[in-house]
Amino acid sequence: HADTAMYHAKNEGRDNCQFYSASLTRQAEKRLNLENDLRNALCNQEFHLLYQPQFDIASERICSVEALVRWLHPQQGLILPLDFIPGAEETGLIIPLGEWILRTACTEAVQWMQAGLTLQVAVNLSPVQFNNPNLLRTVFDILAQTGFPPDKLILEITESALMDHTNNTVTTLNTLRKHNIQITLDDFGTGYSSMSYLKRLPINNIKVDQSFVHGLLDDKDSLAIVRAIISLSRNLGFNLTAEGVETLEQAQALKHFGCKALQGYYFGKPVRMEEMFALTEKQWSIGKCQAPGVHSEY
Ligand code: C2E
Ligand code: MG
Ligand code: MG
Ligand code: MG
Repeated sequence: HADTAMYHAKNEGRDNCQFYSASLTRQAEKRLNLENDLRNALCNQEFHLLYQPQFDIASERICSVEALVRWLHPQQGLILPLDFIPGAEETGLIIPLGEWILRTACTEAVQWMQAGLTLQVAVNLSPVQFNNPNLLRTVFDILAQTGFPPDKLILEITESALMDHTNNTVTTLNTLRKHNIQITLDDFGTGYSSMSYLKRLPINNIKVDQSFVHGLLDDKDSLAIVRAIISLSRNLGFNLTAEGVETLEQAQALKHFGCKALQGYYFGKPVRMEEMFALTEKQWSIGKCQAPGVHSEY
């Protein structure tokens, strides 16, 4: 970016030069502010985790939860991950933040276990974390220090993290799998995975992106995509989770198509650890698919 800006500045005269350097300074300032803000936030414990239940269709129980980070900024109030994760990735602060997230999720999950509630816990990994050479050491250290069982940990990664072929993606995944850590491919359908590449990856679950789930019952294309992803993952031996499930009708249709697990506001919004207990005690029964057209077509 800086090179392009200088090239333009040199070739387009003095006014442009001032314009570009001013905008570069502003960018640098913004980045520095964010970096300071994030650093302070980590020191001052302004982050916390919420957990969203994941419903297992076969057992009709909440078997796992996804940890989702929140930032309670002293001046700006609640900030959602999409508004600070990209900045944390750019500044590299996602590494200490991601470590804090994993450590906190494992620590809180051990507290649940001690209180008699055993759940699998899914933690999102940014591509920057996944491709960091210290990832494996960090994960194994945190598991050892917190005592959280590796086979209860699910790591969620997106396709973009896996597309960086320069790093040893398959080796990293194999090492995690050898320790019985589960791997979920998140936001599936929005990236560019080739099918043959997917087949070589030692992953357990695929999570179909919520954009397809939202359109499931009113949009033919979304329906076709969800069905294709379900049959693809079945053939490749992966479990399929659907996220963004907001209605009973969507839940029933996804069950009908062969989805294994469901996540979304219908089963519960992300909540504080203490509130998860009530959600897991609730009896669920989603019943059979009533959506018109779904039976006759399939
Ligand atoms: P994601 O991993 O795909 O998480 C699902 C997002 O969808 C969450 O948003 C969740 O609150 C939201 N959601 C769940 N059910 C529904 C529903 O029924 N309807 C709708 N409209 N939305 C639903 P959130 O918490 O804002 O997180 C957004 C994204 O930020 C996450 O997408 C993930 O990519 C990232 N993120 C969140 N927490 C973390 C984290 O701890 N570490 C990293 N690296 N990324 C995170
Ligand atoms: Mg996720
Ligand atoms: Mg997702
Ligand atoms: Mg997402």
